[in-house]
Amino acid sequence: MKVYKFGGTSVGTPNRMKHVAELVTADKEKKVIVLSAISGTTNALVEIGELFQLGNINCSIDRLEKLRATYDPFIQSLFSETSSKERAFKIVNQYFDEMHRLIHQPFYKQILKIIIVNGELISTHLFQIYLNEQYHNCAALIPASEFMYLNDSEEPNMELISAKLDSLLKQNITYKLLITQGFICRNCSGGIDNLNRGGSDYSATIMGAALKAKEIQIWTDIDGMHNNDPRIVNNTMPISNLSFEEAGELAYFGAKILHPTCIIPAQQFDIPVRIKNTMKPMAPGTLITSDQNPETVKAIAAKDGITAIKIKSSRMILAYGFLRKVFEVFEQYQTPIDMITTSEIAVSITIDTPKFLNQIVQDLQEYGKVEVDRNQTIICIVGDMVGEQKGVSSDIFKALEDLPIRMISYGGSRNNISLLVKDNLKEKTLNALNKQLFNL
Ligand code: ADP
Ligand code: ASP
Ligand code: MG
Repeated sequence: MKVYKFGGTSVGTPNRMKHVAELVTADKEKKVIVLSAISGTTNALVEIGELFQLGNINCSIDRLEKLRATYDPFIQSLFSETSSKERAFKIVNQYFDEMHRLIHQPFYKQILKIIIVNGELISTHLFQIYLNEQYHNCAALIPASEFMYLNDSEEPNMELISAKLDSLLKQNITYKLLITQGFICRNCSGGIDNLNRGGSDYSATIMGAALKAKEIQIWTDIDGMHNNDPRIVNNTMPISNLSFEEAGELAYFGAKILHPTCIIPAQQFDIPVRIKNTMKPMAPGTLITSDQNPETVKAIAAKDGITAIKIKSSRMILAYGFLRKVFEVFEQYQTPIDMITTSEIAVSITIDTPKFLNQIVQDLQEYGKVEVDRNQTIICIVGDMVGEQKGVSSDIFKALEDLPIRMISYGGSRNNISLLVKDNLKEKTLNALNKQLFNL
């Protein structure tokens, strides 16, 4: 059994959806197929929810009807048979009518969560009808809301997911293809929820781990993980192999191709992850496994929206317990720390969730003078950089000759060197490193 996940662009037009159907029916192997919403739909649903929340009901309904209209030509061109078209229209209209009804109710937060998952509900339903029209009832639809449970730490409840998914697969034993939604889950109170934007990758790796799948394939619009962000840097190239650690660092530190935490379940259960290009299926893509491939620097990624906090205190000199007190403040406000650097009299820490920044700063002032720098970017250089290897740091410093660097973290792990720069220097830094480290 393999798990295949197709992103929004991969199912973004009727022709692409047809092409995905060809890909998943090319062999007879049993597959779980995880789909995202058709590209653009989730953004539209977020907008619809925001307008609703602001009390702008007419605009919200207007936007909803505009989105509904985009499905007409999609259905017309996807299906060949009138009966399939009728079924598809009926189902899509049911989803839109229900959202219409919700927007006429008094607002409460949970409605936003119910609205935003409709993209995946619609794409999977259309795909199942299409597969069954073209490939003789080969596909069953299994709702993610019936097995994708989170626990009270908002982590996947792997035991429950495994048991529920196993039982759903048994109920559908005769089907070769099991279609389900990415992104959608239930929280610990049983309410409909989601795995955050881009969360379909995470859905796929959770399912792969729960089923102990042979492989998890992430099909997207580019030929694998590239050595640098192709949205910002011109000359980038795909990487053929990455270890779980390397891929996990890249995903967490901003490589948008993978959801930030999606490598964790695959790594935990040692399930290979292959990234493939739906538009270029013959391209080798990237294979992510537990194998370490000693090769110095492999890739660079950037994570925006970082805040740096410096605590300066002469009380740090020769003191013990100082850092514990500082860390406890972040723990109290459940704010994860990304980077940390220290000197004898100061410690600098970065966070990506400034929700409790004011409270954190206030509490830290008890231990010293606190300075805050907003609008920072972490540049993360990833590879297998064993301590004895020479030259990596001098190459990095050469590339950064003309760039002011706020923090550097080196040696925390063999897989990661992180730098902190102002966010308006991100592009320049990524390009300079690309030239110096990859000769590109
Ligand atoms: P999907 O809709 O299939 O989930 P995403 O848009 O989430 O696709 O992710 C694919 C995109 O990620 C690519 O089109 C590319 O622009 C972007 N990206 C950012 N960093 C990288 C990287 N290091 N390698 C490849 N793609 C990257
Ligand atoms: N549709 C969701 C999003 O746009 C989930 C995903 O595509 O992975 O964020
Ligand atoms: Mg994505």
